[in-house]
Amino acid sequence: MIFGFGKRKDEEPEEEEEEEIDYVLFNGPVNGTEVNLKANARLAEAALIPAKELVTDGLSRRAERIRLEPKGKAGVVTLSVDGQAYSGGKMPAQQAVAVVQMIKLLAGLDIKERKKPQTGGIKAQFQEVPYELTVAVAPTPEGERLTINARNLKVKMDTPDDLGFTPWLKEKIREITGAKQGFLLICGAPFTGVTTTSYVVLRTVDAYLYNIYSIADVGTRELRGVTQYEPVAGETLAQSLQRIKRIEAEIIFADPLKDAETAKTYAEWADQFCFICEIPAKDPAGAIQQMTQWIGAAATAEHLKGVVMPKLIRTLCSSCREAYKPNPKLVAKMGLPPETTLLYRPPAPFEPEKPGDPEPPPCEQCGDVGYAGRAGMYEMVWMSEEMKQLVASGKATPDAIKAQARKDKMQSMAQEGLRLVAQGKTSLEELQRVFKG
Ligand SMILES: [Zn+2]
Repeated sequence: MIFGFGKRKDEEPEEEEEEEIDYVLFNGPVNGTEVNLKANARLAEAALIPAKELVTDGLSRRAERIRLEPKGKAGVVTLSVDGQAYSGGKMPAQQAVAVVQMIKLLAGLDIKERKKPQTGGIKAQFQEVPYELTVAVAPTPEGERLTINARNLKVKMDTPDDLGFTPWLKEKIREITGAKQGFLLICGAPFTGVTTTSYVVLRTVDAYLYNIYSIADVGTRELRGVTQYEPVAGETLAQSLQRIKRIEAEIIFADPLKDAETAKTYAEWADQFCFICEIPAKDPAGAIQQMTQWIGAAATAEHLKGVVMPKLIRTLCSSCREAYKPNPKLVAKMGLPPETTLLYRPPAPFEPEKPGDPEPPPCEQCGDVGYAGRAGMYEMVWMSEEMKQLVASGKATPDAIKAQARKDKMQSMAQEGLRLVAQGKTSLEELQRVFKG
């Protein structure tokens, strides 16, 4: 048994045999190409079921990422569930090669090409839920590494409420964009929801009140109330902005900022538009420093209006979380609201009352992880008069920025986390884990 999820070793093998397996359904490549299974009958015969087992196992464990990598004589499977890595077992190296080829075929990729990275996608369905599987293959010294990112299409991440934006955050975003000037930036570590957050920041702006244009590559995303600008062939970024100004745009959604030149061009237009975009920085202090490097301290102080950073935290499994009475001293020390009398944590590991007591079956919702799903926490730094002066002085070190944010009573990430702990959505242990990382 390679993919033994949900079945424990001590179960009777006869029972396992009878269990009906609800495999994932592959409904064709996202790019619309035809998959010719007949022409690849031998591959399909050898690898279609193992490929289905790989994806089925991952999706049934709620993995957002499934990775299959050749290591010595085996293909090693790693799953990422709510951002945490778990072993997904192994398979013989030859089978792993066939499975990678099979998934490539299903994703509409070139199965003859094994030396270059390729990306594609598969439309899939599992337990009546539609998924989009983004497939990436990359050569490694030992062969090819397969990465499948699974997106549950039923889970909407479209609105500020879907992402758990608090009222103060929504208000601050609307206040900044309402002035129709400057930069509103989104930053954070990779895989913490930065891109999703940037789209939802954009959706927080009232599309009935403002003329919103996108000059970003938004892929297949639908942005209601936002006009996608199509640049004329050969036109420069500055020329595009000039044309957009003529059509009375007020708010511009742009691709992630990557270089000084683009940042400077936007800065020249920052009294005409409000730019919403990502910036590659791990936190707001880093974003302020990056902008200062690109456009200078004075221009950053003048044009930067705010920086939003998301962080993801695992939420407790609602089916097996355990309530406990926290020590009042701990409640005070952590800065939790004094009326907090009940907190929650994952269940303690099973301990038999007497030797030989059978272990209960694993939690159906979370497979005994104790957590199921993630919630967003948000920090935002905005430009108070004092913050502006600090940035303009060119002495805005990360510590100085953090100290000023505290003085201005800007909500910190830790406060956001404690709010979720007090609400019973996550545990103190998880909060500590997230802040250590
Ligand atoms: Zn559970």
